[in-house]
Amino acid sequence: MTAFPRTATGFDATTASAAYRSALEVIGAVEPRVADAIGAELADQRSSLKLIASENYASPAVLLTMGNWFSDKYAEGTVGHRFYAGCQNVDTVEALAAEHARELFGAPHAYVQPHSGIDANLVAFWAVLAQRVELPALEKAGVRHVNDLTDEDWSTLRHALGDQRMLGMSLDAGGHLTHGFRPNISGKMFEQSSYGTDPSTGLLDYDVVRARAKEFRPLILMAGYSAFPRRINFATMREIADEVGATLIVDMAHFAGLVAGKVFSGDFDPVPHAHVVTSTSHKSLRGPRGGFVLAQPEFADAVDRGCPMVLGGPLPHVMAAKAVAFAEARRPEFADYAQRIVDNAAALAEGLKRRGVRLVTDGTDNHLVLLDVSSFGLTGRQAESALLDSGIVTNRNSVPADPNGAWYTSGVRIGTPALTTRGFGQAEFDRVAELIADVLGATTPTATSAGAPSQAKYTIADGVSDRTRSAAAELLAEHPLYPGLDLG
Ligand code: PLP
Repeated sequence: MTAFPRTATGFDATTASAAYRSALEVIGAVEPRVADAIGAELADQRSSLKLIASENYASPAVLLTMGNWFSDKYAEGTVGHRFYAGCQNVDTVEALAAEHARELFGAPHAYVQPHSGIDANLVAFWAVLAQRVELPALEKAGVRHVNDLTDEDWSTLRHALGDQRMLGMSLDAGGHLTHGFRPNISGKMFEQSSYGTDPSTGLLDYDVVRARAKEFRPLILMAGYSAFPRRINFATMREIADEVGATLIVDMAHFAGLVAGKVFSGDFDPVPHAHVVTSTSHKSLRGPRGGFVLAQPEFADAVDRGCPMVLGGPLPHVMAAKAVAFAEARRPEFADYAQRIVDNAAALAEGLKRRGVRLVTDGTDNHLVLLDVSSFGLTGRQAESALLDSGIVTNRNSVPADPNGAWYTSGVRIGTPALTTRGFGQAEFDRVAELIADVLGATTPTATSAGAPSQAKYTIADGVSDRTRSAAAELLAEHPLYPGLDLG
């Protein structure tokens, strides 16, 4: 199956080639080295086995939407309520992006201005603070904007910071640093506590989450992850939030594509259960780099105050690209793509297990698998580097209770969204599993000068890297990226 069928994205190789050639010619006339780097990036992406769980390949339509005059426009405010003149066209694309997002996810409200996932979370945190901490001005009808908050409101908010509590998934269980991790602002805005996963199964134990929530009484219960290979039951998380009077925020940055494609439905779809849902648009959702927030009606006004509360002027060219990406995701082909992402991840997990690789939670039911490479005597860093030497791009990641800490780690995280976009199926992912297992089995840590095994250095048995590279190249040649797209 081709990655970008014409009917799904309007991608036509001849037209797209002409568009990119012209663009590179215009860019190259000013700074040829940038034009060259753009061409080189396409060549690199075409020739590597991209298994980074948070990356994908956006369609030419999405990418081309970002290179235009919208980039020049300031549009602080919201649709129809701007602090700059002449925003009628920005209004059109922002309203379209929000409408597509609402329809795609069945959400009552969508705010598409966040520039990234971290921004989307900041918008959500401030919205919950503004909504849940009693502010005198907000009690007045018609407060629409952060500028309407009185000094008294601000003073109340300042004092609330640090006293309010957030409970999120711990980083080593797969949570994200914006979910209350100390070096991130979320860990400074809130008194923070975390829940982990069951030490024997690696799975979430909802009774443990409930007990922790009852004890800690958070204002915000965060759910969502960057490196947890399982679905979360959001109906249960909402029950827990309700039992302790918390607001449930779900960060679906990683798995938004699976929600959009209805692979995660019912109790596993965050939208009907969470008060606020945050996301990126560029991971499994395959849109432009950016963020967005979905909210239940009671949080809608507070969410819309994201700019200027924590955001500067919105990026209209990216909002336009979000509208295009969401429109693509509303097509039936996207549901098929989402299903293939999880089917492929299951095949990858099975293939790895069959070849003796230990997986955190012993498998997956989303788009990623987390390898525990300690049984190979390797750190995550060694495994990541050895795989990269062999043409396989992954990233190292902590595993629960990781003895090697967050820098060296004991894990490698791999995901299927990008290669699924290229058209890889289960047979190809089984072959990928074979290549990964071969490289890991052929890699040994070298000794430090003191004689102990190094955490960073390693050797790979002769010939294995080259053999893997050519096997990877064969797989990639069978599934070209942007087939027919030729920069000339
Ligand atoms: N939330 C989650 C769960 C993520 O995995 C990430 C990115 O890694 C983010 C938020 C932050 O997204 P961004 O890099 O766009 O700020």
